[in-house]
Amino acid sequence: MTETYNFRPRIGVLALQGDFEAHLKMLAELGAEGIAIRLPEHLDKLHGIIIPGGESTTIGKLMVVYDLREPLQQKLREGIPVWGTCAGLILLAKETDNALAGQPLLASMDIRVRRNAFGSQRESFETDLTVPALGEAPFHTFFIRGPLIETVGPEVEVLATLDDGTIVAAREGNLLGTAFHPEVSGDTRFHQYFLRIVEGVNR
Ligand code: GLN
Repeated sequence: MTETYNFRPRIGVLALQGDFEAHLKMLAELGAEGIAIRLPEHLDKLHGIIIPGGESTTIGKLMVVYDLREPLQQKLREGIPVWGTCAGLILLAKETDNALAGQPLLASMDIRVRRNAFGSQRESFETDLTVPALGEAPFHTFFIRGPLIETVGPEVEVLATLDDGTIVAAREGNLLGTAFHPEVSGDTRFHQYFLRIVEGVNR
């Protein structure tokens, strides 16, 4: 018997600052419903959450101002799939080497990150990554003052490294973290990968 399967994932994208529009556009392209999260009530009935790149200090502060930090942490405790890209990865990490004193974080994923690890804006770069979980074709992507992942806990799967072994993408259960910006690559495979995690939880 063939399974009929009409699940349309509703994915919230934290829309306080940063590159949220590009994520919403990719989600629309993939047929998912994208919701811009600006208020706590926008977290209702979501199947997954994306925390975009931008400036983690600013996003963190705004998260507190808009009363979103607590409810986001509650969602994380409930096990909702969450994907952090770049600044979003910093916010998701349990540890950062140089978070500004008092920088509000979500502190959920068992990784330690180093902010601005590749230098200033001018040292931003593009590269072709090998990401076995996405198939054979390399994933062309952009590092824009991104962090790197220094260490990962025992339950964390490394999804991609640079040629020198630097970890730049990882997964821990329903949590996904990427140090770069897949939403500006034109390649939807990382978004599809996240949607598969979401579908797995909602089957
Ligand atoms: N440097 C930023 C931070 O520390 C992250 C940059 C980005 O998201 N592209 O928050």
